[in-house]
Amino acid sequence: MRPFQTSIIEISRSAFEHNLNFLKSYLKDGVRICSVVKGNAYGHGIELFVPLAEECGINHFSVFSADEALRVHQSRVGDSSIMIMGMIENDQLEWAIENEIEFYVFEPIRLQQALLVAQRVGKKAKVHIEVETGMNRTGFALKQLPAVLQLLRTNSAHLCFQGVCTHFAGAESVTNYYRIKVQQHNFDKALKLVSASGLSPVLTHTACSAAALRYPKAQMDMVRLGIVQYGFFPTREVLIEYLTKKNTKVNPLQRLLTWKTWIMDVKVVKAGEFVGYGTSYLANSDKVIATIPVGYSHGFSRSLSNQGRVLIHGQRISVIGMVTMNMITVDVTDVENVSIGDEVVLIGKQGDLEISVSSFSEYSDQINYELLTRLPADLPRTVVD
Ligand SMILES: *Cc1c(COP(=O)(O)O)cnc(C)c1O
Repeated sequence: MRPFQTSIIEISRSAFEHNLNFLKSYLKDGVRICSVVKGNAYGHGIELFVPLAEECGINHFSVFSADEALRVHQSRVGDSSIMIMGMIENDQLEWAIENEIEFYVFEPIRLQQALLVAQRVGKKAKVHIEVETGMNRTGFALKQLPAVLQLLRTNSAHLCFQGVCTHFAGAESVTNYYRIKVQQHNFDKALKLVSASGLSPVLTHTACSAAALRYPKAQMDMVRLGIVQYGFFPTREVLIEYLTKKNTKVNPLQRLLTWKTWIMDVKVVKAGEFVGYGTSYLANSDKVIATIPVGYSHGFSRSLSNQGRVLIHGQRISVIGMVTMNMITVDVTDVENVSIGDEVVLIGKQGDLEISVSSFSEYSDQINYELLTRLPADLPRTVVD
């Protein structure tokens, strides 16, 4: 039975397993994989993706904020670790500590609060100390670290030193090479301060997808992998660098996500007629037009007006006219036997062709990350093989 919603998202288990196998073979031995599931698991859906990832052997997840941590907590089936890499309010610390949710701390007030709440709850707060190394966003400055470490040491009954970490400011681009090297150098200094303090964190971690692929030294104990696990290189540049280095033409990653819908109406339009709002598309010959029940309110960008492509009957079909809130029109004049209810692929494969997120996002001027995370959370998602 079709869902009430007008389009669906399918997530491929075999593609995910394939990506994990590639990543495990690429990473150094013993490096742990933390699956980054912020932004609704990059649009794949936290509730669906987390149990799938657990079945495939993942046992560490990270998110941006407490609301996402709550969703992972509610949808995990095992006892996987959950780590908040960004925002948590003091009000939410009790919940986090109670439920052994790990969280980044990057300024002194939150650290003090974590200590107070841990004392009150009677359970240790699992903190990751984020170090400012050059991103200039969040993180303790090197000169703050001795005091932080001192506090951790004297309160080890209440504070668990779960991690020391940093984040790179653009490891996906060669132009940032020098900046990343400076960050690595600064992080090394932080690690020296940590070891001089006599403390040893459970995990030392710095790498996102791009850093894990491009800077092997950054892999450390654990890598925080987002975009690659879903089958995308962070940028085309990283893909090309990988292919060149390995002297191959084969992209080692596979996309998990397919977005599909069905034709809602088909009609003939006479030469000389306009299609849709205004005058942006004029039929210069008799045309067969299919209407598709997906528009910008569903994440199909308005900038794809007269630009986008979809797949129908294994053929690449052009969007004509304006993308509206709930519908698009496409030109199916050259497709045989098109009828209402036929499958339309907006992102993903049909037959031998594929609409990749990146071609979709080049047309719509969004990067992979943005397009994926904008896919509506309320679309039904299912796992397929
Ligand atoms: C988003 C994020 C990641 C993952 O980034 P990808 O490029 O998707 O691998 C890793 N670490 C932090 C701190 C992040 O915010």
